[in-house]
Amino acid sequence: MPNYRAKYNFETTISGDASPTALVLGSGTSTGVPVIHCGCPVCLSTNPFDHRLRTSVYLTCDGFGLLIDPSADFRLQALRYRLPRIDAVLVSHAHADHVFGMDELRQYNRLQENATINIYGSDFTIDSLSKIFSYIVNFKPVENSQMYRPQLSFCTLPQEPYQIGPFTIEAITLPHGPAKSSGFKITAKGKSFAIASDCNELTYEAIEKFTGVDFLLLDGLRDRPHPSHLNIEASVDLMRKLQPIIGRFIHIGHDISHADLEARYPENYGPAYDGMCVILGKDTPETPSAAALNYIKF
Ligand SMILES: [Zn+2]
Ligand SMILES: [Zn+2]
Ligand SMILES: [Zn+2]
Repeated sequence: MPNYRAKYNFETTISGDASPTALVLGSGTSTGVPVIHCGCPVCLSTNPFDHRLRTSVYLTCDGFGLLIDPSADFRLQALRYRLPRIDAVLVSHAHADHVFGMDELRQYNRLQENATINIYGSDFTIDSLSKIFSYIVNFKPVENSQMYRPQLSFCTLPQEPYQIGPFTIEAITLPHGPAKSSGFKITAKGKSFAIASDCNELTYEAIEKFTGVDFLLLDGLRDRPHPSHLNIEASVDLMRKLQPIIGRFIHIGHDISHADLEARYPENYGPAYDGMCVILGKDTPETPSAAALNYIKF
């Protein structure tokens, strides 16, 4: 069981520890939890660990900030966790829950002296993003214009491993019902992280690459099967096979409370939660961030 009372401040990790660190900004499915106007016990729960923003993760190493998916809740996540920098963004796929925070990145352009932020994804993701965000891609700055668009460059990831700041990125295409998504294996300083948040199965390539990573986040929507997502049982079975040091399922719906999931999976392969923070490879690898503890209900 994680120690929910641990005192922890994510900002001290960034300034005081150069180790690669992963912070779960959101662990919820596309609706988020609570679901609008849902009266189920999980949506009405007052336990902050039952509050699941849309799935997104922030990785940092040597002060470099890598965002995985600018989710529909990105503004709130940036405020809640006081994200200091966004140096680059990886996008798993162009579904709304994963990309509708894209416009909020303009504030990081301002904070980072108007430097362009590169947005990386597989070819099918960049194709879709170019259509959805055509007003960003096709923006021509006009002198004295008060119109302000994010300054983003959409970049297709190559097939081979690709270096972004201190991180080596490998993208793996996964089936996601009628669509596709990218899973990522990310390594830095000999530590490894992997995520496949939206997929109904893992390919042989993904199984090979994800085996034995330090921290794995894997789709685990709910108990019942779903055509586009792994269910919880399949996700935990895969984690037991892949043997990451820490494995958590993510993209969780409102069917089951966090406490019930923790009780069901007391081992290292259980539910992720908003604010979960892992310093990759450390002896005490998991702590809720201060922001997870200073939860604000809305
Ligand atoms: Zn999703
Ligand atoms: Zn509900
Ligand atoms: Zn999706």
